[in-house]
Amino acid sequence: MPCLPKSRRVCIAVGRWKTDKDRTTSLKSVSYRSPSIDRFVMAHSSNAFNQGLCAFLDQSPTPYHAVATMKSLLEAQGFKPLSERDSWGQLAAGRYYVTRNDASIIAFTLTPDELTETGINMVGAHTDSPCLKVKPKPEKVQQTLLQLGVEVYGGALLNPWFDRDLSMAGRVSVETGNGRIEQALINFECPIAVIPSLAIHLDREANQSRSVNAQQHLPPVLCQLEEGDTLDFRALLEKQCQQQYPDRTIGKVLDYEICLYDTQKASVTGLYGDFISSARLDNLLSCYVGLQSLLAAGDSQPALLVCNDHEEVGSQSSSGAQGNFLQSVLQRLSQTPENYQRMIDRSMMISADNAHAIHPNYPDKHDAEHGPVLNRGPVIKTNANQRYATSSETSAIFRQLCNQQDVPVQDFVVRTDMACGSTIGPITASNIGIRTLDIGVPTYAMHSIREMAGSRDAEMLQSVLTAFYKLTV
Ligand SMILES: [Zn+2]
Repeated sequence: MPCLPKSRRVCIAVGRWKTDKDRTTSLKSVSYRSPSIDRFVMAHSSNAFNQGLCAFLDQSPTPYHAVATMKSLLEAQGFKPLSERDSWGQLAAGRYYVTRNDASIIAFTLTPDELTETGINMVGAHTDSPCLKVKPKPEKVQQTLLQLGVEVYGGALLNPWFDRDLSMAGRVSVETGNGRIEQALINFECPIAVIPSLAIHLDREANQSRSVNAQQHLPPVLCQLEEGDTLDFRALLEKQCQQQYPDRTIGKVLDYEICLYDTQKASVTGLYGDFISSARLDNLLSCYVGLQSLLAAGDSQPALLVCNDHEEVGSQSSSGAQGNFLQSVLQRLSQTPENYQRMIDRSMMISADNAHAIHPNYPDKHDAEHGPVLNRGPVIKTNANQRYATSSETSAIFRQLCNQQDVPVQDFVVRTDMACGSTIGPITASNIGIRTLDIGVPTYAMHSIREMAGSRDAEMLQSVLTAFYKLTV
């Protein structure tokens, strides 16, 4: 069956069943009821969490926007901004956050207790996702069409970028009235670009052997121009800036970091709403779950969330996990080298980044005993060669937490004859010297422009990470 009858689809979209009474009332108005309607009702009972997740995904087309969205969620819950250039002194108990390069963020809560006595449990994730980024001199006109030169950021699956309604977002550096340079986030929001496929009639082997040449085949089409016309990309950004910030003095756009993104919104999908389908699930799903866990944990224990940029390109930047952002914040919280080490020894890091679910059409790509399934709980990622930082000590702590929260837990180990991916876990473990665990929710289509996860896994992970934040390890 390809899709739900219309009346039931409306219920999914609204997703307003909050109590059993509401559900009964809503169901009475449904004209068609299948035998499995009860399963359907259960599947959608967690809609509030997933609606928040989908809104976060939609509002965060770039790492800059992800950090801006997280800042507003944190500030609404009483987190105070800190600047790295100010003196922090001895911070009082409370809720704080600090950002670096507008694309990485660390949020933490402090209690009146000494960190050397409590330690501080941490969750890490990353804000960036593979995408296409606009080059510094991007304008090209071919066959009357304005196109943009793009670079591939990270290990993107390129084929899914064709024939999508794309938009652009990112950060621009603008001159203001007094000659100062300021940063501004922009988002065109509307579909303004497409990368059209080559028709199969012009490439009969397309389904067998088409490959993508990133230089030649990826420039998107923005508009059609009259003979002799051109369009200045920086002027286009300037106009967009002026529209978004009518009260600011916006001068010339000097430079920018602009990504293309798919305008299709995140959605709960599947016959019974079993899945979430969206761009950037890797790894904004973990950022959102980490943030919600930090907020839900309250202030009984010190707790920290770090979301780094540049994981998809190796983390080697000032705001990436190989930079000193986290280390510097921890050093300032602990004040002396000895306190730092005493605090770290009482602490633990959970690096949350999505895991590969076993694919029904490609089951041989997994070790049969270590193939995670959607909606069967978070996945512990282990690698003997330290591509994941998981140890038996940290995985045991997590397994116990899952048991206590009544959440199932799964294991992933890459096939012994395949190379293993990695993430911020091992980098953070080696930089900070902290006990670390790598986990994530199972997903399909990692690094596609549209990825897929289970609709129940994110909320399950949130309950475990909330318990972790309250734990003394
Ligand atoms: Zn990732």
